Amino acid sequence: MQDNTSRVALVTGGSRGIGRACVLALARDGFDVAFCYRADDEAARQVEKEAGQFGVRVVSRRADVADGQAVRSFVEEAEDTLGPVDAAVTAAGITRDNPLVLMDDDQWHQVVDTNLDGVYHLCRAVVFSMMKRRTGAIVNISSVAGVYGHASQSNYSATKAGIIGFSRSLAKEVGRSGIRVNAVAPGFIDTDMVAAMNDKARKDITRTIPLRRMGRAEEVGDLVAYLVSDKAEYITGSVLQIDGGITI
Ligand code: NAP
Repeated sequence: MQDNTSRVALVTGGSRGIGRACVLALARDGFDVAFCYRADDEAARQVEKEAGQFGVRVVSRRADVADGQAVRSFVEEAEDTLGPVDAAVTAAGITRDNPLVLMDDDQWHQVVDTNLDGVYHLCRAVVFSMMKRRTGAIVNISSVAGVYGHASQSNYSATKAGIIGFSRSLAKEVGRSGIRVNAVAPGFIDTDMVAAMNDKARKDITRTIPLRRMGRAEEVGDLVAYLVSDKAEYITGSVLQIDGGITI
């Protein structure tokens, strides 16, 4: 990619947390952005407004990433409104934690359908057009749980490890077409996803992080914006951890 002027980015799960931070960072860097979310219309309108202040076009719509047709419609509508897609970021994700011995089928399938099928659906919907234009950058949000595992998150970790295998395979497939594919593996980032933790659990976790704090969604947004920019044009197939050192 040459520069970020008048380019188009798609983000899943852009209404809150890390996805929201990606929308804002990409808008700041000059991308027109389309994002989808599942249910929270009010949060989405707010993000549209905030990101629009960077002087770019920002549109959003509900689309459940587990639903392939909904994702295809999201992509088609975005291309009709903004133009061909240069960058795609898959941030939509959920947790349904339980030790495996207590896990039920719904907890397993909801997480797989959203976190893993969701990545497949978006990448499948954008890749052919990127190949034809011989340009594109994809960033899939994994997790350190997908690299190292996490107790009571066998469902979540399986999807996040799957995202890494998927991203590396796709990077090998489409590199010759000028498309880069990377995964970002955050540690504990202070979003709604970790807000359910009580104070003691937060303190216990923070003690295990060498930098002694949770990450900020904006820090992940900045990394994603870097990865889709021309500054990262020799980076593909990588898994970039952003975790305050928790895994060392
Ligand atoms: P979050 O604050 O809970 O936000 C999740 C976002 O995804 C929301 O915009 C939500 O939209 C959207 N979403 C959820 N299910 C969806 C679906 N089926 N279809 C479309 N959109 C959907 O989560 P987060 O902490 O920012 O996490 C974002 C990503 O980073 C996830 O993939 C997560 O696994 C990963 N991650 C997070 C952490 C962390 O510590 N926070 C660490 C590692 C990896 P609605 O509000 O409309 O439901």
